[in-house]
Amino acid sequence: MSEERDSAGRDATDSAAARRQQMVERQLVQRGIRDPDVLAAMRAVPRHLFVPDDLTLAAYDDTPLPLGFGQTISQPYMVALMTELLKVNVRSRVLDVGAGSGYQTAVLAELVGEVYAVERIAALEGQARERLARMGYGNVHVLLDDGSRGWPEHAPYAGIMVAAAAAQAPPPLLDQLAEGGRLVIPLGAAHTDQVLTVYERRGSDFLVERSLRCRFVPLVGEASRDDGRRSGATGDDPGDEPPQSGRWDEV
Ligand code: SAH
Repeated sequence: MSEERDSAGRDATDSAAARRQQMVERQLVQRGIRDPDVLAAMRAVPRHLFVPDDLTLAAYDDTPLPLGFGQTISQPYMVALMTELLKVNVRSRVLDVGAGSGYQTAVLAELVGEVYAVERIAALEGQARERLARMGYGNVHVLLDDGSRGWPEHAPYAGIMVAAAAAQAPPPLLDQLAEGGRLVIPLGAAHTDQVLTVYERRGSDFLVERSLRCRFVPLVGEASRDDGRRSGATGDDPGDEPPQSGRWDEV
């Protein structure tokens, strides 16, 4: 390799790291994300490698981005907030429903023991699985399936993250939470205002906390009330509208 190419390669890597550092400061720290482990994970994962090639330059922008198939990679702030709300650590086993690009899966993999990720669109699942393996995430397991039913073989989970909106928390996901475990899920109608909601298991009961208003693509599955008629199920969804203001933070 010539010196020129070598230094060009290094520059590209350096500039992605610099953009990531800026993303963490401006979009996360200044908006109140505090957990040092979450901030370190957001600094570590190369988001530009999870977006379509023509969007590499926008990878660190303060916005969700299209992934294809009518699906969306969440805004960095939303990924960090949801991860912080999960309150997991290096001993945790976590389920990620709606792996999409694999970006949220990678952020979780930086923080926890094992991540079990489920995605229902085969092309996205294959791409996420390959990408995460190539990047060396040995603690990630990806499955093509309806994640609204969870992944019962590896339950119970200390945390369950759902990156798609449902009318109610799918009962199988609540069942698969460990004692004290937390489920983070946007609740509400597809493509409109939803509320990021956290369920924490207390025996056979759940503490319920409501967080930010948000906007996600629908969870299309058996244990979700949305039957997919409005979008997403066949990959022909044109995608969500952009967020309308700072408070509507999501896809
Ligand atoms: N966390 C993802 C965001 C993906 S968008 C990322 O970081 O890129 C939501 C994803 O949920 C889409 O890929 C969609 O196909 C998937 N999805 C929707 N319903 C699902 C279901 N029932 N089971 C598994 N995945 C589902």
